[in-house]
Amino acid sequence: MTTTGAPVLTFACTACGRCCQGLRLPLSIREARDWSEAGGVVELFCEAAPDLGPPDDPAALHRWASGFAGVSGTLPIRVRLMLVAAFDGPCPRLLPDMRCGAYAERPSACRIYPAEMRPDRIVDPAAKLCPPEAWSPDAPPLIDAAGRIVDEEVGGAIAALTDAQQTDAAAKASLAQALGLHAVALANEGSVVVLPDGVRLRAAIDAVVGAPAAAPAGWRFVTDSADTAALIADAGGESGPAAGLTEATYRAYVSA
Ligand code: SF4
Ligand code: SF4
Repeated sequence: MTTTGAPVLTFACTACGRCCQGLRLPLSIREARDWSEAGGVVELFCEAAPDLGPPDDPAALHRWASGFAGVSGTLPIRVRLMLVAAFDGPCPRLLPDMRCGAYAERPSACRIYPAEMRPDRIVDPAAKLCPPEAWSPDAPPLIDAAGRIVDEEVGGAIAALTDAQQTDAAAKASLAQALGLHAVALANEGSVVVLPDGVRLRAAIDAVVGAPAAAPAGWRFVTDSADTAALIADAGGESGPAAGLTEATYRAYVSA
């Protein structure tokens, strides 16, 4: 959320295509199925933390509600499974003239940029890939002086993705079970990344959407930190090193 009294931000996309390169785009389950069906690559990012119940802070509460209950050893955990469109280099849908080749069907994340998906983050034009002319004062308003998104499509896309992150949680629990996922990274330390075969992923999505939620157990934290492993063990959880992964990779977070 932009602070009250912040300058009005005006914006008009110049279709430069800079934001369509080398991405991991967060998707809803429905968007992930569509992306995969169209031939795109979908990766699954898995992370978790001890489940301390719903927090008071709104942003933390949203993250908690976007996850599902699991168990590692005897430790109750909250697992977040993120489905992302993955591509290095130009997006497979990007046309040679830098227009989107599937503009009407593009994911919510594409409709949101350069605004922020998280309402607690300030939109900083200097941190965006858009050229200066995209922020022309003659362009339509994107954000008003109170920090509210005034562009209806952008606001609608933020609401849709935020809503999907919570309503998809039960289906993601069942999806994790259907795909046999058990390895998870500690939130804020890294992610376990799984690249399922597209046909298998779509079949699993079709089987779990609308079905009763599963409660997958047997989660094992992946960490190369002896301190983290000791903390997890003290709390009753199980862990192992990244080298022990067979059908996934470990991606450590790098602090900015
Ligand atoms: S789907 Fe379209 S808007 Fe989204 S990254 Fe690809 S080319 Fe860009
Ligand atoms: S970087 Fe900005 S101006 Fe360029 S295509 Fe993306 S949203 Fe539009």
